[in-house]
Amino acid sequence: MGFFTRRLIPRKVRRIAHPIRAVKRAVTPKPVKKVLRGVSIVRNPLGNAAYAVERSVFTKKRKKRSSPAPVYRHGKCPIKHRSSEVAMRCKN
Ligand SMILES: [Zn+2]
Repeated sequence: MGFFTRRLIPRKVRRIAHPIRAVKRAVTPKPVKKVLRGVSIVRNPLGNAAYAVERSVFTKKRKKRSSPAPVYRHGKCPIKHRSSEVAMRCKN
C-alpha cells in the first residue's frame, strides 16, 4: 500500500512533506558552490589549459572564416545581409 500512496502524491507535495531535504537545499550558500567549482578547476589545470588552447584555436578559425564572408547589400539598406535570399526578403 505504501508504494501506491507514494506514487499518487505529486512531486511538489512530496518535497513539502520532506522539510529537512528542502531546508538543506536552501541552506547551501551560493558562495560555497562557487568555491567548490573553482577548486575543481584548480584540481584539473591540465584539462583546463587544454580547453583554453582548444578554444583559442576555434576562435581563430572562426575569425578567419567570418572575414571573407560575403555580404549582400541593396539600395539604401544599412543591414549587411548574409545571403541574397535575406536581402531579397528585406523590406528596407
Ligand atoms: Zn536589407
